[in-house]
Amino acid sequence: MGIVVVGTVAFDTVETPFGRGENVLGGSATYFSTSASFFTDVSLVAVVGEDFPAEHISFLQSRDINTDGLQRIPGKTFHWSGKYGYDLNEAQTLDTQLNVLMEFRPNLPESYRDADYLFLANIDPDLQMEVLDQVRRPKLVACDTMNFWISSKPEALKKVLQKVDIVVINEGEARQFTNQSNLVKAAREIIALGCKRLVVKRGEYGVLMFTADSVFAAPAYPLEEVFDPTGAGDTFAGGFMGYLANTGDLSEEGIRQAIVFGSVMASFNVEDFSLDRMKRLEYREIEARYRSFKALTSFRDINDLKS
Ligand code: AMP
Repeated sequence: MGIVVVGTVAFDTVETPFGRGENVLGGSATYFSTSASFFTDVSLVAVVGEDFPAEHISFLQSRDINTDGLQRIPGKTFHWSGKYGYDLNEAQTLDTQLNVLMEFRPNLPESYRDADYLFLANIDPDLQMEVLDQVRRPKLVACDTMNFWISSKPEALKKVLQKVDIVVINEGEARQFTNQSNLVKAAREIIALGCKRLVVKRGEYGVLMFTADSVFAAPAYPLEEVFDPTGAGDTFAGGFMGYLANTGDLSEEGIRQAIVFGSVMASFNVEDFSLDRMKRLEYREIEARYRSFKALTSFRDINDLKS
């Protein structure tokens, strides 16, 4: 079986130097599922309100995403407003309306409980824990979070981080969580909590993956046109976990390849607003960009240098 993901399905209002989208489709679970669906089966756990249009749910279903675990309850859908300046690396949150998220009690359909891969996308850490407790014997559990939860629920978040195999987090948030300005030291501190790997997302600077005794670096694909970075992190995580669930290869090599697939997916997502680029993305484009990534980082071994 593929991946179970819990996270937000949202309305976003986003402003970048290149335009503005009001009440567009967003949410950590939306981006994650859409990206992962290119590689594997995805089952979604999330909540929306009465105001959420059926067409967005139809879109997820058109990607074969299982929405049995998507609850619709009275109230308004989670709404996030954010802004980016010309430095598109860090979003500035203008407003977060939790709305139905405050009433949400995830109750996983029976068919979800034997999932091998579980992704706890950015959402209230208490909800991440409730979902984690309902999945019986996952082979791999990874999680994400953001500054909002680091400041409002640090203890609940710490408990989640102690129970997962891989933590995927933004550079700024790794620093905020540990109070540590040096990223390598921050990584060591997070790994010391109990996870095996830490994947640090660094926007246009790419990704660093730490274990207790190794570091792997992948660049971000150098794009000429970046319109909206919203969802890049979740799209990265979807490609990363999707590829791992597809191959089942959890070796160091396999995980490094998954990092590159995650980076490829994120590089597409930022080319347009909301999920617009993902909606028209084709698998052959993913393969082509993977090849370009390989070329971007390929150089001779030191033993092959001409003296
Ligand atoms: P990112 O991949 O980090 O750019 O995530 C962007 C998505 O995260 C947006 O579509 C938002 O709807 C969602 N989001 C923003 N704030 C939160 C929050 N506090 N909890 C969960 N999801 C959020």
